[in-house]
Amino acid sequence: MHPKQLLDRYQIEPKKSLGQNFLHDEGLLARIVAAAELSPEDEALEVGPGLGALTRVLARAARRVVAVELDGRLLPVLESELSGLVNVELVHGDVLQLDPADWFAAPYVVVANVPYYITGAILRHLLGGRPRPRRLVLTVQREVADRLTARPPEMSLLAVSVQYYGRVRLVSTVKAGAFWPRPEVDSAVVRIDVEERFLEQDDGSPTADHRPPTAAKPAASDASRAVGALGDEREADLPPTARHSPPIPSAVGGRRSAVEAEAAFFRVVRAGFSEKRKQLKNNLRGLGLDDGAIAAALAEAGIDGRRRAETLTVGEWEELTQAIATASSARA
Ligand code: SAM
Repeated sequence: MHPKQLLDRYQIEPKKSLGQNFLHDEGLLARIVAAAELSPEDEALEVGPGLGALTRVLARAARRVVAVELDGRLLPVLESELSGLVNVELVHGDVLQLDPADWFAAPYVVVANVPYYITGAILRHLLGGRPRPRRLVLTVQREVADRLTARPPEMSLLAVSVQYYGRVRLVSTVKAGAFWPRPEVDSAVVRIDVEERFLEQDDGSPTADHRPPTAAKPAASDASRAVGALGDEREADLPPTARHSPPIPSAVGGRRSAVEAEAAFFRVVRAGFSEKRKQLKNNLRGLGLDDGAIAAALAEAGIDGRRRAETLTVGEWEELTQAIATASSARA
């Protein structure tokens, strides 16, 4: 049924403030789910099932679907639309306030037509959580899709932060007319495949295939802090505490834990992007290192300090993080 008819039946007005633009093209819904390449063993998370159109298709492809909806007015609609689908668990709440570890014990797949106002926050929350998603297929604003898939010299804090975790690619563009109500801008479907190394726990063991759902999850908050940079450009304005964050821990003398390595990476990237159009060597002063140490680290990583943050590849940021760790420990 068309979303307008369904909403009329329940006398519900869509809320713009919750990003409520509902997809109603069955062909597109099928293509979105196909892009996730789900196996019958996969567990999936849908953020914002809305009226359940995507959820129904998802439920046919995944073993289990957890669908988290914030708007309580939609729950009766969802209960009716999804009745009989025994593999769907409907959760009423704000996905940003909930912990994926409460539902998943192993890497899962996210398929969602996300509420646009919190795209960056959702990415930060899920990529920084444990367990992590192994894949995300997200319908986002076209402009956000362009930023997520950007390459040097067009990188942004958002692009580096997401591409650090894995490969991001554009699946397809989506015209505004595919939604009701019609949004003001076009959208796009993107797919993010998280690298295997990020699907391991901090101790290097694979993420919890055998971990009970109730297992302790100490890494989640640390990991979320580590990806504090992930979000929209406004978050590039560092809070005062981050500007004076502790030195980057060194890998010398032992393997840095995965959480520490992530935290160090994001401290360097945030510093690098802290002021637009400034040269990297100037922005890196935000790390609290002297100019000599910064110059040494840049030389070690083979990066010209006059370059701007937007021009660096993710690999270069990783090399720079390592070089800064070495320079910091040499001066400690
Ligand atoms: N999946 C449906 C579809 O494709 O037609 C609806 C997508 S609509 C763009 C976004 C949905 O996310 C809405 O149903 C909205 O109420 C819900 N939502 C907004 N903020 C949320 C949050 N913080 N947590 C969970 N759901 C949220």
